[in-house]
This record gives sequence, C-alpha cells and structure tokens, in this order.
Amino acid sequence: MAGIEGMLAEIIAEFPRFRLLRKSDSHLMSSIDIFLKILTWGRQSRFLTEYHTVIGYTLFVAPTWERLDVIERIVLLRHERVHLRQRRKYGLWGLAFLYLLPIFPVGFAYGRARLEWEAYSETIRALFELRGASVLGDKNLREHIVRRFMGPDYAWMWPFRTTLDKWYDRLILELSERVSDVQNYSEKTDASMIGDQNPNRPKEPKTTWAQS
Ligand SMILES: [Zn+2]
Repeated sequence: MAGIEGMLAEIIAEFPRFRLLRKSDSHLMSSIDIFLKILTWGRQSRFLTEYHTVIGYTLFVAPTWERLDVIERIVLLRHERVHLRQRRKYGLWGLAFLYLLPIFPVGFAYGRARLEWEAYSETIRALFELRGASVLGDKNLREHIVRRFMGPDYAWMWPFRTTLDKWYDRLILELSERVSDVQNYSEKTDASMIGDQNPNRPKEPKTTWAQS
C-alpha cells in the first residue's frame, strides 16, 4: 500500500484507536485555543488554523492539512506517531504532566522540550528520507524548527539556542552517515513509499474523518 494510505494503515495497525478529526469539529480544541491565547498573551494564535495536535490517540488536524502534499502528510504523521508512542509509554496523564509542567509551563518547559525533541528528530529524519540529503543543509528548516522551541508556538519551551544547535548538529551528523544507505533505500522504495509524484496529479483527495 502506498503513500498516505500505507502510512495511516501502519499507524492504525500499531494504534487501533487512532483516528483523525478536524480541529474545527472539536470543542476540546476550541477550549485549548482560548487557554493558549491567554497563556501566551495572544502570541500563539494559530493553534486552530495551522497546528495539528495529537491528544490520546486522536490526531486533530487544522484546515492546513487539506493543503499538504503526500510527503508533508507522511512527515507530519511520523512526527505524531512519536507522540502516540509517548502516550503509550507514559500514559495519558503521565504524558500530560510531562508536557505541561516540568520545570515551568512557560519559558522553560523541559519535559515538553524533551518530548518534542524526540518528535522533531523524527520530522527531520522523515524529511531526509523522503526529500533527500539536501534537507541536511537546509538553513530555513533549521531556523523554523529552532524557532518552534524558542518562540511562542510551544510557549517558549526552550530558551537555550546552544543546546538546540548541538542537538540539531548531532542529528545531521547521524543522518549524513546514512546518506549512502539512504540512496539505496530510496531506489528501492521510491515509487511505493511516496506514490506517484506527478505534479499534475491532484493532491491527496480524500480524508476519512472520525466523528467527534
Ligand atoms: Zn510535536
């Protein structure tokens, strides 16, 4: 099974309770949106419109999901699969505690940063595998991800740039050592992983939505 259907099937095989919901259909998401606007003094105002959020085994997606191409969706799902595994490892409340509290909810959220480090490592790994080695030197991507940690998107969870650069450099080094392996890998899996990449092909058309 190729592309996005294959990825979703993999996730459902691992997490049978996994489902996709639109954020706009969820009261819980509207409440979190209000809470985040208060917590960040209005700086995180794109929670409902641009951010995709996994809670429990449900992935709540923003309207931007519809505009993502196949690779972007797979990359996103791989990031969220890390959070699903964290959910299984720590339990719902354990994960919520780690995500929200230590050490401070805003400004230095060590627990949240650790959980997102793991997930963003997977984002970078997935981009590297699906888009190729150019991802490793992509300065915009690095800045984008570093800003996620240092800026209001996740309530300023990590204020130290040096640690972020070290983490990123280590990951880039690890991935660049895999370049030759990945070349073989993409030759083998090209068509089956990514699907038809014809630019004229309509974007992933249908999403099967769960009911809230
Ligand atoms: Zn995340």
